[in-house]
Amino acid sequence: MKYLLFFCIICFGRQYSVAKTNENSVASIAGPLLAYRIIVGSDASASEKWAAEELRYWLYQICGEYIPVQPQNNNYTGPRIVLGYNYEVKGKTGIQPPSDKDESFHYFSDSGNVYIYGGKQRGTMYGVFSFLENEFGCRWYTPQVTVIPKKEKLVFGKYNYKSAPGIQVRNDFYFEAFDPVWAARNKMNGRMNYVDQPGGVEAFWSVHTFYPLMPPDEFFDKHPEYYSLINGKRVFEVIKNEHHQLAQLCLSNKNVLKIITERIKQKIRQHPEYMIYDVSQNDYYNPCECDKCQEIVKKEGAESGLMIWFVNQVAESVEKEFPDKYIGTLAYQYTRTPPKNIRPRKNVVVRLCPIEACVAHDLKSCEKNKSFLDDMQKWSSVSPQLYIWDYVVNFAHYVMPYPNFAVLQPNIKTFKENKSIGIMEQAAYQSRGGEFSELKAYLIAKLLWNPDININEVIDDFMSGFYGRSGKFVREYFNLAQSLITPQQHIKIGLHPIDPIFTNEFVNQSIALFNEAIKVADNPTIKSRVELSALPVYYLKCMRNPVMARTDGTYRLVLNIIAKEGITHLAEYNQSTDRFNKFVEEAK
Ligand SMILES: [Zn+2]
Ligand SMILES: [Zn+2]
Repeated sequence: MKYLLFFCIICFGRQYSVAKTNENSVASIAGPLLAYRIIVGSDASASEKWAAEELRYWLYQICGEYIPVQPQNNNYTGPRIVLGYNYEVKGKTGIQPPSDKDESFHYFSDSGNVYIYGGKQRGTMYGVFSFLENEFGCRWYTPQVTVIPKKEKLVFGKYNYKSAPGIQVRNDFYFEAFDPVWAARNKMNGRMNYVDQPGGVEAFWSVHTFYPLMPPDEFFDKHPEYYSLINGKRVFEVIKNEHHQLAQLCLSNKNVLKIITERIKQKIRQHPEYMIYDVSQNDYYNPCECDKCQEIVKKEGAESGLMIWFVNQVAESVEKEFPDKYIGTLAYQYTRTPPKNIRPRKNVVVRLCPIEACVAHDLKSCEKNKSFLDDMQKWSSVSPQLYIWDYVVNFAHYVMPYPNFAVLQPNIKTFKENKSIGIMEQAAYQSRGGEFSELKAYLIAKLLWNPDININEVIDDFMSGFYGRSGKFVREYFNLAQSLITPQQHIKIGLHPIDPIFTNEFVNQSIALFNEAIKVADNPTIKSRVELSALPVYYLKCMRNPVMARTDGTYRLVLNIIAKEGITHLAEYNQSTDRFNKFVEEAK
């Protein structure tokens, strides 16, 4: 959202014991590996079949032996890893089959065999990846960087591990996280229209769908009454000082309701695979000022009252044909304050966006965040569920230190406490190269699945797994950057190089740490990873001290890294080309 306003916002292999369940167990399953079979049911879903191949492939990477995958066959009684819910699982656990959409999973061992099952759509598949992560230390840090600890011999232990998603719709909106295979391995299921990421659950069409559903080109000439009345005139856009701004729909018009309802149903019929379908305001102000619309607004004490009144009717009609689908809408800008009386229906999901929040401090601990927190708590108290569109990077300078790691976890927990069934973490989505993009994309994935994880363990694991020997120094830099936060200084989604949190001393100390990290890099590949992580500091130096950066080669260094890594965006959207070109110009 807010792609056009402001700067666009809304716009090693070392084994690590995260969540291990078998620490005290000894090898209970012995025997030659090849005796094992991976069993998939004849009714296995596509993701279960794929998970079987993945399991086979990664176990081979661990120990160099293939375990054959074979269909379920009652005559086979040898050692096996059974994927998916079946009669055996039923017999051993006594539980009823999970629903296809259930993303939780359970893996356990019994009589020398291993069972991994969950809902067919994603549950079993997530179980397989968690099994490999928890029990064998496999890591899929980025789409390109996987770390698989080797073992001479594969030994299965005693297992009994259950897990369920902390957040139902998990949208990690980093460029690095758009790879569908990486997303599946890291249990991300969000999907946005910015990238065609198959297999997601989120929404058809993202947000700001009033005009895509009712294009002014199609209707305005014949039916201007379908659009906003502004200053006594029906308009679909408002021209102020030569800036064209979209308006909205006249929501009290019965035909508008009819058309939107029919069109959203049509979208669901055409694309039935999603969970939430969006009916929401355009990315501008200019709500309708007609008497009928304003009568409802007055009664409800807020523009959101009119919006919920409209969306509830769409949702009620949709429910008759699609009882398990949600209609999403926004509480954003002019609809941010909740209505006095009307309540969102059970199949309506209201989305909130903490676009003005301070990210130096979490939502609960900063006075600057009080107004958003109040709004969210009010919405949460009147809504069956919420969805949060959150912001986790510096949109004015993707490539610059942005010490907001400490707020990620507490904020996700606060969203969850307030009935969020979905969270989108909008990040550097157009290009790689954002500050700690790989680490943040990975950490966010872990947090959205389980908001209670120990994030320091995940960060330490990433530092050694992804950076090898250099990880120690990258971690020191990471800590130094996070320590820039003080209780007095607030940070927003646009942080500038001259912000008082930065000092030249910080820049110099950071560069010294990266020099050490580069010196001890295990190999050229890891050296490149370290240099990419140092880019924000070099960039900051260029921004703060261009004369020196030109003389001492820092500018050239930054341009070299940008070219080598194929980085295309230094900032978001409408600023990005300017920022990029300006930087190249300044380097001369
Ligand atoms: Zn109206
Ligand atoms: Zn603050």
